[in-house]
Amino acid sequence: MKDSRFSDERYTLTDEKAALAIDVLRKGLNRQLEASLEVCVHCGICAEACHYYVSDPKPEHVPAYRAEQLRKIYRGLFDPVGKAVPKWAGAAQLDEEMAEQLLLNVFGSCTMCGRCVLNCPMGVDTRLIARTARSMLTAIDMTPAGLKATVNVHLESGNNMGVEEIDFVETVEWMEEELQIAVDDPSVKIPIDKKGARYVYTFNPREVKYFPLLIQAAAKIFLSAGEDWTLSTESWDATNYGLFSGDNAAASKIAHNLEKAVLNIGAETLVMAECGHGYRSQRWEGENWVGYKYPFNVVSFVEMQAKYIKEGRLKLDPTVNDKRVTYHDPCNQARNGGIIEEPRYILHHTVMDFVEMEPHGIENYCCGGGGGMLSMSEFAKERIAAGKAKADQISATGAEILATSCHNCLDQLDEIRRHYKLKVKIVNLSELVADAVVWQK
Ligand code: SF4
Ligand code: SF4
Repeated sequence: MKDSRFSDERYTLTDEKAALAIDVLRKGLNRQLEASLEVCVHCGICAEACHYYVSDPKPEHVPAYRAEQLRKIYRGLFDPVGKAVPKWAGAAQLDEEMAEQLLLNVFGSCTMCGRCVLNCPMGVDTRLIARTARSMLTAIDMTPAGLKATVNVHLESGNNMGVEEIDFVETVEWMEEELQIAVDDPSVKIPIDKKGARYVYTFNPREVKYFPLLIQAAAKIFLSAGEDWTLSTESWDATNYGLFSGDNAAASKIAHNLEKAVLNIGAETLVMAECGHGYRSQRWEGENWVGYKYPFNVVSFVEMQAKYIKEGRLKLDPTVNDKRVTYHDPCNQARNGGIIEEPRYILHHTVMDFVEMEPHGIENYCCGGGGGMLSMSEFAKERIAAGKAKADQISATGAEILATSCHNCLDQLDEIRRHYKLKVKIVNLSELVADAVVWQK
């Protein structure tokens, strides 16, 4: 490979590896993928849909260009004209140069956010094309190092940051004490491994390791609503980077861990933390990966908060959140997950001045941190550059507070805040809700 970022021995493409990767493509060729590889008319409408192109308009940032790399391989293998006259048909073989192109295009400059899919008149699913190419590269051990490590740590330790059970429990107990002090009620308890609880709640490991106050915020909301809930020490990590690496076997194992925890508690519903891809993985992809229907429901904590407000189970004082607030829709929660109205309903009840960024909801631009980008340090420069579209959107709102409900988004938004000198404070949606909750005994 020419790019020095891929100088490691494992990025060498042997004939055996190429055959393995092609086999992954062959097996993944369902109707949706085949149609997406066949029907692009090169109209270019998808260009403006992609935050990479909007931030830096160059041909390599057009979604159709990215997809074209896999299309070339597909034509060479499955298209009769491509096989007979490859050059004329724009077909190519998977060689080392092509593998490098795929690495740069599907890992380095596509967050699989799906905005181009929504805007393509032909229904081309570039997000699926990108994930298929990621699956091919992961099958031959060409996954970018940080992403590979994140998946492996999760498989080995049960969470993607390798947090020990004792540290998890101690952090929760510490937050329990803090909450008792904050609400002046020593009887307050954060339930752990409570058999028969209706709801099992999860965290992003970032909360346990770096942002424990979010544990306190979630607990305050559940307890104020009088919920029958628990945490599980058996499995509590909401993330699933198998979605991003394209490794369905790993994704399935991770999804299965949470499933076992819910079944052992005997809960009706698994509540996913404010984590965009974690929600999408468990709610929309998990059953496909494990191969059967879960005997319980999967919901997002955002849905739970909206439900509590609708049911009158939270007493709220929005005057404590008196600054102008805007909201960033995480792609995997809104466009790819269907949770769009709930955060707005929540914000209208918990803050005094809510303003939308444009576009928003299903058409919101990716922040640039999706697709596991935060774990791939080799593409940090591209990630920050791709955040410009989002930075411009945020600036235009004049908001002082930017709320979101995804930890990957939160990290990326904070980095682009620093880089583009944005004058906003970035918070989780649940922080605003917890601040507005009026505690009642
Ligand atoms: S909008 Fe669709 S059909 Fe047009 S170039 Fe993009 S992917 Fe191809
Ligand atoms: S999925 Fe998102 S990042 Fe990837 S090409 Fe489409 S719009 Fe761009």
